Amino acid sequence: MNYKISKRAASLTPSLTLAIDSKAKQMKADGLDVVGFGAGEPDFDTPQHIKDACAKALAAGFTKYTPAAGIPELRAAIADKHKRENGLTYKPSQIIVSCGGKHSCFNVIFATCEEGDEVIIPAPYWLSYPEMVKMAGAKPVIVQTTDQTEFKLTPDALRAAITPRTRLFVLNSPSNPTGSVYTPAEVKALGDVCVEKNVLIMSDEIYEHLLYDGATVKSVASFSQAHFEHTIIVHGFAKAWSMTGWRLGWCAAPEPIAKAIDAVQSHSTSNPTSFAQKGAVAALTGPQDHLPLWLAEFNKRRTYAWQKLTSIPGLTCVNAKGAFYLFPNIAKTGLKSTEFCARLLEAEKVAAVPGIAFGADDYIRLSYATSMANIQKGLERIERFCKTLAK
Ligand SMILES: *Cc1c(COP(=O)(O)O)cnc(C)c1O
Repeated sequence: MNYKISKRAASLTPSLTLAIDSKAKQMKADGLDVVGFGAGEPDFDTPQHIKDACAKALAAGFTKYTPAAGIPELRAAIADKHKRENGLTYKPSQIIVSCGGKHSCFNVIFATCEEGDEVIIPAPYWLSYPEMVKMAGAKPVIVQTTDQTEFKLTPDALRAAITPRTRLFVLNSPSNPTGSVYTPAEVKALGDVCVEKNVLIMSDEIYEHLLYDGATVKSVASFSQAHFEHTIIVHGFAKAWSMTGWRLGWCAAPEPIAKAIDAVQSHSTSNPTSFAQKGAVAALTGPQDHLPLWLAEFNKRRTYAWQKLTSIPGLTCVNAKGAFYLFPNIAKTGLKSTEFCARLLEAEKVAAVPGIAFGADDYIRLSYATSMANIQKGLERIERFCKTLAK
């Protein structure tokens, strides 16, 4: 049998972060002493009151289809969140709940982009964006940034990348993989360019609450009515509430786009899991006291890891102001990222993600969503590894 794979599916690169994470987990299961820096998820448990709300819904038989775009109660709670925290006024009908922030990104791109369209993605990027753009039949236009500018795109570079075919600009601050955070003024300046050029912005704000060193964020949607009308916010429960396995995210969009996404979703996944949505309501409306504790712990690890990394010969690293990643530069080691990570895993049993997966081959991504003991052990091994390269 000659299985014909569609052009769209064949053009995809499978997720390298998921692959490395499962390889490290397998090595661990085989009894090897592996330190994994690959995780893209918090190592904390989902807060108990969220799990309780879900368990209660399940016990009460809340196990049937819900509206495709999510239960009204959750859409209203999300609209309230944007009002309260971002000063943005969305009607619940502008909120679409999906099966994870990743799914929300996919829906947004799928509902707005097609053949002939271009989507501007600053690199280093979250590795799923370009693949989603390809799945929609559109063309990813990658604009490189480096650690020299803290991985921030300038308004001029954005303007230069825009063509009459540009449909969407992808903004992700705080960023995965770099942890970089645009200041409100920088976000506004990028938004200004998009408004002027009539380009939609997909603003992935999933790390909104994970900030350090006094960094602040302001959604690009919040600067003017025009900014609001050009922006689709993508968000989710995975990171700030540690609900990665629950598969729940959302987007907040101008009404016609929300409607289109609702239609797409109604014919693909239908609703996100019913009882999980009840947990999500509790996540938004219940106590948030887990967050300062997590942030304090993340911050301790980030500070330690950054200090250690910058002391290792061959590595340089800008400190991240958000998310839970550091993105050290490995150019001075003379290795490209895939070889660096393969040899590091082989020699020292440390799993890191090659920067090439994020469109930046001179870097590796280290997640500090793992215990301090692991971080210490892993960084010592990285130091030993880099010293052998220097010889
Ligand atoms: C984790 C993540 C998401 C969403 O993850 P889900 O598990 O699908 O909710 C979206 N964008 C970025 C940049 C992320 O790192």
